[in-house]
Amino acid sequence: MSDRTASMLDSIRGKARSWLEAQWDPHQPLGEWWSNLAQSGWGFPDFPERWFGLGLPSESRRIVREELQRVGAFGPPHGIATMMVAPLLVEMGTDEQRQQWLPGIVDGSEIWCQLFSEPDAGSDLAGARTTALRDGDVWRVNGQKVWTSGGHYAKWAILVARTDQSAPKHSGLSFFGIDMRQDGIQPKSLVQMNGSAEFNEVFIDDATTLHTNLIGEEGKGWPVALRTLSYERESLDADAEPGIQTDLDLTIAAGRYASGEIPDGSEGFMPGGLEAWELLCSVIAANDKQNDPRIRDRAVKVYTGIKTSSWMSQRFAQAPEVGAEVSLGKLAATQLMRDWRDLALTALGPHGQLLEGENTFDGLPAQIALSVPGLSIAGGTDEIQRNIVGERVLGLPREPRPNGD
Ligand SMILES: Cc1cc2nc3c(=O)[nH]c(=O)nc-3n(C[C@H](O)[C@H](O)[C@H](O)COP(=O)(O)OP(=O)(O)OC[C@H]3O[C@@H](n4cnc5c(N)ncnc54)[C@H](O)[C@@H]3O)c2cc1C
Repeated sequence: MSDRTASMLDSIRGKARSWLEAQWDPHQPLGEWWSNLAQSGWGFPDFPERWFGLGLPSESRRIVREELQRVGAFGPPHGIATMMVAPLLVEMGTDEQRQQWLPGIVDGSEIWCQLFSEPDAGSDLAGARTTALRDGDVWRVNGQKVWTSGGHYAKWAILVARTDQSAPKHSGLSFFGIDMRQDGIQPKSLVQMNGSAEFNEVFIDDATTLHTNLIGEEGKGWPVALRTLSYERESLDADAEPGIQTDLDLTIAAGRYASGEIPDGSEGFMPGGLEAWELLCSVIAANDKQNDPRIRDRAVKVYTGIKTSSWMSQRFAQAPEVGAEVSLGKLAATQLMRDWRDLALTALGPHGQLLEGENTFDGLPAQIALSVPGLSIAGGTDEIQRNIVGERVLGLPREPRPNGD
């Protein structure tokens, strides 16, 4: 890193620190804190100044996150809306769409979900069969989606739908924002093996969305969907912020969430890199395994994985745009979490299977162990990421496509 870049990053850190020290108040309601972060630009510093940012380089996010942790403050809202929809709108939305949606995203008051996967279209997203047909100023949508995280509490969704049945598979798709709270959209919860019911099947029966909610051009939804998936994969790397798995009460003091005291009804957080490391160290120490050479050896592997993933995400953050390399970050993160799970369960022994009781760490390791397989599937499976790395990073021959399209 050049002296000039280092000094610029130091200056960003200094400004973020002063602002946070002056503004963070743990008694402030979460909604007010998020609004304050958004209005100041420190919530999303790499967004343009006109759209709730400060126009800073993308590394500023990591710096602000470190400063937030330093003062013990809760970070900006984190979910599909901020990970995927907001950067997409900044990059590809119209000004009207940005004005309509960004304020509710950056202050956390409107939650979004992702209506992509269908019963017969997961990895093969371009095979989506849900249709949208133009009817004057609106589009009428019919079909079924599945695995829709947060579909039961989301206000809005991003939707991939087929708008031209006669066009080749990838060219007949369009990309929309759609209001989830209408009669034509019925989410039905699915219970996962970790006990939560975060997923939904979503039945769509003559739902409508305005033509002005079309993101990108009609029939050109495929590149928009790919862009969205890149943002999703980037946010699933090991250095990512802990994900908030549910709707939060914006009237409760931000400090209660920041301190990890999660009010009843909220379902919890997946630890980010460093939190995961600290939890693992506590598990090993509590079981008096810190001097076991095999455990130490595997712990070094996990620690190296955390550091490598963190280094990779910093490198990718410096890239001019989100590229296929994010698949490497996602693969590294899923492997890391598998190593974490295997080591935590080895150290815990039979207690690792329990959700409550002595030496179970409130069931967190067991919960994580049950959630880790999902990481290899969400946002595109490991096999799909390897195909992407093979074809777009290494330049290997393309995988055969079954439909010849
Ligand atoms: C935690 C979690 C959250 C999710 N949230 C959402 C959400 O909010 N919205 C949403 O729309 N979806 C969501 N999904 C769904 C997810 O995107 C799909 O499950 C995923 O894309 C895989 O699709 P599929 O389940 O249909 O499996 P399939 O595509 O049927 O794949 C089955 C198996 O075949 C392999 N395979 C398929 N094609 C290839 C290929 N070309 N080369 C090599 N191997 C291949 C896959 O790797 C996999 O092992 C979520 C999934 C998880 C686990």
